[in-house]
Amino acid sequence: KWAGFPVHQSLDEFDISAQPALSRQQFQQLRELLWIEQVYNLILLGPPGVGKTHLAIGLGVEAIQQGYKVSFVTMDHLIELLRTQEVTRSAQIKLKRITQSDLVIIDDLMFMAINRHEANLFFQLINKLYGQSSVIITSNKGPEDWGELLGDPAITTAILDRLLHKSEVIHLTGDSYRLKNRKTILLEM
Ligand code: ADP
Ligand code: MG
Repeated sequence: KWAGFPVHQSLDEFDISAQPALSRQQFQQLRELLWIEQVYNLILLGPPGVGKTHLAIGLGVEAIQQGYKVSFVTMDHLIELLRTQEVTRSAQIKLKRITQSDLVIIDDLMFMAINRHEANLFFQLINKLYGQSSVIITSNKGPEDWGELLGDPAITTAILDRLLHKSEVIHLTGDSYRLKNRKTILLEM
């Protein structure tokens, strides 16, 4: 079932040896998806190009294959959906699908100006998902910096409480895979 992935990227295409922060055993454990069964969240952190989105999509694809309902949405788009749900039927439908998913992937929690109202709507969504759906969040900033993004400290604390309560935080590292590939291509030329 299509979950709104921007591209199809599988775990088989994920080169684990190119990702120093993730052991083969850890990768295998993630792949077994027991964490979805136990409703754990996954926070994938790291600089651009290290494979956060690829890993998230790969896990999402795997989850679908195992029969889970999965939704993928960028943070940008999610905020837009939340902001327009009152007036847009398609936003309502998409949000309903998100809240009914076993796994919700929120890609690129990054710094953009969201106001208190939007942060509050985001909190309400996270609260709805809490204990019921697993959430994967990718971000190039750690939770300690999310307060800046979400503005209101009380809302930020409430969101973090729920997201981090049962969670695994993985810091991906290394050079950008995009740049690495480009270098190889340049060297070959
Ligand atoms: P991020 O979300 O961390 O910015 P992406 O997941 O978008 O990074 O990865 C950037 C590109 O590099 C993508 O095309 C992705 O498929 C590829 N890539 C990154 N890490 C790996 C990896 N370990 N194995 C295979 N491809 C990778
Ligand atoms: Mg990404």
